[in-house]
Amino acid sequence: MFSGNLRKRPRSLALRLTLWYAGIFAASLCVAFLIVHLLTLSILRERTDEDLREDLAEFSAFMEQGGVERVRTEMALETAGDEAESSYFRLWSGDGRALAATDLSPWPGLAGARAPVARLRGRNGPFLETLELPRRQDRLRVGYVALAPDMVLELGQSLEEEAELAGAFLDAFVVTLAAIVLLGAPVGWFLARRALQGVEQITRTATEIADGALDRRLSAQSGGDELDRLAHTFNVMVDRIQTLIDGMREMTDTLAHDLRSPLARIRASAEMMLSSDATVDEWRSLASETIAETERMLEIVNVTLDITEAESGATRLERIELDLADVVGAAVDLFQTVAEDRDISLTADVPRRCPISGDRYRLQRVVANLLDNALKYTDEGGAVRVTLTDEDTMVRLVVADNGRGISPEDVSRIFERFYRCDRSRGQRGNGLGLSLALAFVRVHGGDIGVESEPGHGSKFTVTLPRNETG
Ligand code: ADP
Repeated sequence: MFSGNLRKRPRSLALRLTLWYAGIFAASLCVAFLIVHLLTLSILRERTDEDLREDLAEFSAFMEQGGVERVRTEMALETAGDEAESSYFRLWSGDGRALAATDLSPWPGLAGARAPVARLRGRNGPFLETLELPRRQDRLRVGYVALAPDMVLELGQSLEEEAELAGAFLDAFVVTLAAIVLLGAPVGWFLARRALQGVEQITRTATEIADGALDRRLSAQSGGDELDRLAHTFNVMVDRIQTLIDGMREMTDTLAHDLRSPLARIRASAEMMLSSDATVDEWRSLASETIAETERMLEIVNVTLDITEAESGATRLERIELDLADVVGAAVDLFQTVAEDRDISLTADVPRRCPISGDRYRLQRVVANLLDNALKYTDEGGAVRVTLTDEDTMVRLVVADNGRGISPEDVSRIFERFYRCDRSRGQRGNGLGLSLALAFVRVHGGDIGVESEPGHGSKFTVTLPRNETG
């Protein structure tokens, strides 16, 4: 069900994108059409008005040149033939009587119109208005001008041409819009699907990984676009998850393996204790062996928990202002006996004071683990040198030995939990010392570095920020 939902989503997204684009595109087209339409109408109207004004001015000139008779003649000439369908003239007297008119039969409703004399009062030029006649489809643009103080000329012009143009424009627009939407929708759908193809591939791969195929990865395209970057980040994330899972698997294997031998020994001891012929002394020795084995196991479990806690950031440091020179000095003193027993020279170069803010117990364990290793992996007659330097913002602790050293292949792995180099198997240990030291140093905000040469010795360098707070 989960994977089914995942598979459906890109399809609906493609549809939604297509609809959105088509909608936005159509709306933009409508707005553009409206603007062009209004602009065209206003230009046409200006032109009609211009013509009307010119005609009215011409008739004023006719009046001056030839009086009313000339005006009448020109009125008849101007409306001869088909022109009567698109324009008319009418002459009004100053008291509002119609004196003369061209053929008004194409203009039903005009005959009874009121005289426009009052409207011209106080005006110098002509007066224009738009009329709608009840039985004509087109509207009418009408101009009035005073030819003499007691005479008004009315000139009407049909706006049919303007309406036809607007209608043709609207038709063309509707056809264009339909064509664009009809053609654009499949193109938009195709483009959206193409763009989402990468997402579908990611979804498919993620589903396969969720189903357990952790080795699946996304193939990187060369485009370097957002989807490629997502694919790259996705692959890096899965790599990291796989590394973590492999690490956990290896760790649980080793943990189980390391706990199996002591458990088997405990069981053997218990079986021997049960056998009736064991003496009290034998019982005691078996009981103390059992305690020792249990302690070994407890140690492994506790250290593993400490490392996990530190690595997950859950460790609460008991931070205090302490003198690291003191901590290192005390550890060197403590290990001096072991060094002497093995004829190893253990020397320390530590400043008088080295104040740092840190967790005493955890820093003690870091120093002890490094010293323990140095002595453990150095043959008799060797030398271990501990140097503590107090630098500006940090302190540096170096534990160097001239022991057996570590091979380059092993160096990169010694900080892993339970990792032990082959040659160290004979020594006591559980492969957790360095992991714990690194985890503790990291919670202090520091780090551990290692340089080593097989057969010549190793040098572990701990750097700790001096005033790290938190
Ligand atoms: P262990 O309990 O085995 O000492 P660690 O985590 O402390 O576990 O160390 C991991 C491995 O690193 C060791 O098994 C050893 O092989 C190697 N190692 C650590 N310190 C040294 C050193 N000073 N010289 C040589 N090898 C070392």
